Amino acid sequence: MHAHPTTRMSARDYIEKDYYKVLGVPKDASIDEIKKAYRKLARQYHPDANKGDPKAEERFKEISEAYDVLSDEKKRKEYDEARSLFGSGGFRIPTGSGTGTTGGFPFDLGDLFGGLRTGGLGDILGGIFGGGSRRAQPRRGADVETEITISFTDAIRGVTVPIRLTSPGPCPSCHGTGARAGTMPRVCPNCSGTGMVSRVVGGFALSEPCRECRGRGLVVDDPCPSCRGSGRATSERTLQVRIPAGVDDGQRIRLKGRGAPGENGGPAGDLIVLVHVQPHKVFGRSGPNLTLTLPVTFPEAALGATIEVPTLDGPVTVKLPPGTSSGRVLRVRGKGAPRRDGSRGDLLVTVEVVVPKKLSSKAREALEAFRSATEDENPRAGLLVGS
Ligand SMILES: [Zn+2]
Ligand SMILES: [Zn+2]
Repeated sequence: MHAHPTTRMSARDYIEKDYYKVLGVPKDASIDEIKKAYRKLARQYHPDANKGDPKAEERFKEISEAYDVLSDEKKRKEYDEARSLFGSGGFRIPTGSGTGTTGGFPFDLGDLFGGLRTGGLGDILGGIFGGGSRRAQPRRGADVETEITISFTDAIRGVTVPIRLTSPGPCPSCHGTGARAGTMPRVCPNCSGTGMVSRVVGGFALSEPCRECRGRGLVVDDPCPSCRGSGRATSERTLQVRIPAGVDDGQRIRLKGRGAPGENGGPAGDLIVLVHVQPHKVFGRSGPNLTLTLPVTFPEAALGATIEVPTLDGPVTVKLPPGTSSGRVLRVRGKGAPRRDGSRGDLLVTVEVVVPKKLSSKAREALEAFRSATEDENPRAGLLVGS
């Protein structure tokens, strides 16, 4: 079911990523050179050839994304232009003040387009080029929480699970502008790009969102057909998440940096996976130990026996000492769940003496004989002392 990964192009990618470097080709590489480099790398890092290696998967995505841009003449031109405009190291906002210590923050072109979601265009440009009140602060991406259910055995042994995450992002067709590819939105003439207009009502000047552009500050003449002009899309990504061996029901696993991407160069948030573990039909779990109830017969408990018990690694034999009472716990070392340090818990076997519901006449006779042979024993003698 492996499809070509969808590349979510944000305008920021143009500046932050060096697609030529990703493919290992020179800036003036021909389309044939680009194709050749891509094929070679794609084969090398293809997820099918690197099962469960998240690094290879990440690299494969990068390669695909780079190829997506560089193989398309128009996209490549846009990319080259954006990079020559802002430089490969990231455009820096002029500080405007003489301190020089605060420096600038890496400019995020995504914010320019994304600005469509916040204030007006004028505000954003003001923010970028100094003097404005808004500065693009690096912001950590949000933590994303999701839950999965895995089998008991997978929880003990560890498992890699594909987790599908959807998140809102800019429309890949129009890079979030909402305008048909190849066209640009224009500054709204009604509000001059501020997104707000003043209206005088009963002697008061009210500021309200511009109706022409619905507060975006931009109008789109030719809407992008993919997102119908909204500029937004839902991007879907599938992560291969390694659930460590020994995870318990209700445990949360935090995967650093796999949550929502950061903004303006901020770090990505974390992905938090709440793990549900399905119950096993034989084993239970108590921290790092597995538990098992072992039914035994009265003669086995009284006379002692060697009994085969199941473990997750296959059956083992345990020695039931003579005179074992119901409820006694036998410990099979090292057959529990793995701990963080790599050692393993134990299998705790609780003995349960099973009393037959029906007796054959032969069994009844034998038990009657047993009763008369043990007449002198009273297991309740201690209870009656001093009462
Ligand atoms: Zn679109
Ligand atoms: Zn407007």
